[in-house]
Amino acid sequence: MKVCKFGGTSVASADQIKKVAKIVTADPARKIIVVSAPGKRFSSDDKVTDLLIQLAESALRGDSTEQQLKEVVSRYEQIAAGLGLSLEIITVIEKDLRKRLDSNKNDPSLFMDCLKASGEDNNAKLIAAYFTYLGIDAQYICPKDAGLLVNERPERVRALPEGDERLSELRDKPGIVVFPGFFGFTKDGTLRTFNRGGSDITGSLLAAATEADLYENFTDVDSVFAANPNVVDNPVGIEKMTYREMRELSYAGFSVFHDEALMPAFRRSVPVCIKNTNNPDAPGTLIVNERNYFAQPVIGIAADSGFSTLFVDKYLMNQEIGFGRKLLQILEEEGISFEHTPSGIDNLSVIIRSKFLTADKEARIVHRVKEELKADHVHMHSNYSMIVLVGEGMRHSTGLAARAATAIARTGASIQMINQGSSEVSLVFGVHKADETKILKELYAEFFLKSAMLSHN
Ligand code: ASP
Repeated sequence: MKVCKFGGTSVASADQIKKVAKIVTADPARKIIVVSAPGKRFSSDDKVTDLLIQLAESALRGDSTEQQLKEVVSRYEQIAAGLGLSLEIITVIEKDLRKRLDSNKNDPSLFMDCLKASGEDNNAKLIAAYFTYLGIDAQYICPKDAGLLVNERPERVRALPEGDERLSELRDKPGIVVFPGFFGFTKDGTLRTFNRGGSDITGSLLAAATEADLYENFTDVDSVFAANPNVVDNPVGIEKMTYREMRELSYAGFSVFHDEALMPAFRRSVPVCIKNTNNPDAPGTLIVNERNYFAQPVIGIAADSGFSTLFVDKYLMNQEIGFGRKLLQILEEEGISFEHTPSGIDNLSVIIRSKFLTADKEARIVHRVKEELKADHVHMHSNYSMIVLVGEGMRHSTGLAARAATAIARTGASIQMINQGSSEVSLVFGVHKADETKILKELYAEFFLKSAMLSHN
């Protein structure tokens, strides 16, 4: 049994949804279908989720929402017309949206979640109606009825394992289950959405709970590439990689698969396959527990910008018990999570995503660290990028770090920070944002073009 998730571009138009129906019916193992809200049909198009966010913002401000509501409904209308469906389903969708808009606004963030979730919810209803119209035995299932449980606020939303047993019953439903991605319900029935792109998480949760043989994640590329194709010309596609490698790559900017989505599949060892709705015969990228590390020690190179560094220096820091804890506690009290903490004997840097900082927060953190920890020097610098070399094979080979550092040196850029965790799945280089592109190109040439040339000779 397979769980398939179709992302926004795969369900953005009638033509795309026709492809989805073909894919689903081509393999009787495809039983549970998780869908996103309609995404972009062309690059300047709006995602329905973004339209819904704007709609919710207008409603919260008390502005008129009629025009924006019409725009959202029209997206579904165009899809339904293109699929040859009667407009009955559009009445259902419009009614649902109006009901959501009229719901309680006392808590703006819950109201926002409720509107955002309608994108996938209504698309799932529409797609189920289309499957039925085609004569496929299919039904829409609401995450509330299926028991997709999430935690209470104010914590970041995540699924609760208690929900798994109920979710596992989806396996026994007759026909095909069409399930909206992106949201679940707390025990008291409050709707909460996952982070953006969170339909991947729903798919993975269902695949794990139902112990599927495979979780197929359909998107709009043939495979996960070894580097960003917008930066590197024709990067190679990755045929197979491990969960840990995918986690590292998606952390550092590979947006093909949500970084929180791997955990459920990983825990139950459900293999994940990233596939292309527009080219379903391409094998895609398979994500599994183990692969042949010797053939290819490095599997991909990712780069992500928008990092700040908090640099703290204090003489004899290494002898001061509790220094690190106190420093991180200040960050905790300021509501900041950290990414890396490279250190020397008398200094420690904390790498933070700049989006979590404001000018005020930055100044306060620097001041507090200086005063409370009696540090000698404290600075906050921004505009850093992290370049991450990923591959479990690094554990089994020598000289890779030297090759990477030499390749970076060839670009003339200086490395600001190097970090390799003891798991040796990744090697992280902190560099100035301005150097990111040239470094990525050079590292790609070093690890993918050179080795390709060597194996040809
Ligand atoms: N529709 C949501 C978003 O655009 C969730 C998803 O597509 O996975 O973020």
